[in-house]
Amino acid sequence: MALIRAKNLKFSYNGVPAVAGVDFELLEKDFLAVIGPNGSGKSTLLRLISGVLEPSEGLVELLGRDVRSYPKTELARLVAYVPSEFYLPYDFSVFEIIMMGRSPYVAWWRNYSAADAARVGEVLSEVGIDKLRDRGINSLSSGERQLAFIAQALAQDPKVLLLDEPTSHLDINYKLQVFDLLSRLAGAGGLGVAVVSHDLALMAAYAGKSLVLKKGGGLFYGPAKEGLSGANIAAAYGISDPASVTRLLKIL
Ligand code: ADP
Repeated sequence: MALIRAKNLKFSYNGVPAVAGVDFELLEKDFLAVIGPNGSGKSTLLRLISGVLEPSEGLVELLGRDVRSYPKTELARLVAYVPSEFYLPYDFSVFEIIMMGRSPYVAWWRNYSAADAARVGEVLSEVGIDKLRDRGINSLSSGERQLAFIAQALAQDPKVLLLDEPTSHLDINYKLQVFDLLSRLAGAGGLGVAVVSHDLALMAAYAGKSLVLKKGGGLFYGPAKEGLSGANIAAAYGISDPASVTRLLKIL
């Protein structure tokens, strides 16, 4: 069964369409690249998939059920969302930040358990940031901070992992680390991973499937090799010369 199935998805902000007529599926082990120009509705789409927004038309199903019908805690055990920006009012340690990912498993009347702490330890190793465990989150580099927030999402033990521009401020070394990690989580980990990113060469190198959006609707859903072609990217972004995109992707 599909983890996520979006059917004829539409959403408008105050009557202005942001997502229109989008259909796609996310299966176990899928690494889905979501691409499109600024304002084509990518972030809105992630919020629809994670049940934060309600579609004006169409439906998002999570494991065959309307995503909006899930109680919040149950939803947080299935879908984790890493936003593009974080607001941190307090300098929590990396350990504390990741532990917050365990909250869907902790009843309000009790504290985190030893099992939760052990899971955080495992996640630190899985992501390769054991050494950062006791560092303040605000003292980290952008790349280290991004890995810490992906680790927090993993501590939720989700089936679906959604990320909004996880590598936009990172150097090439961290970009590769993040994409290697996501590809491992989808492959060996069996998660369904959907990534919004403008790093088209990385998406072409790692993603198996693609959802290409243009302003006003969906343009393509299918294999990443086809979705991330010069012609598709040029059509989505309104670039007049598709050959220039193909050339650039080859260089990268
Ligand atoms: P993308 O992530 O592809 O840049 P967004 O999903 O952020 O696109 O935005 C899609 C459209 O919806 C844009 O035209 C944007 O201005 C509009 N939009 C996004 N968020 C809001 C909001 N909270 N209120 C009103 N309009 C919004």
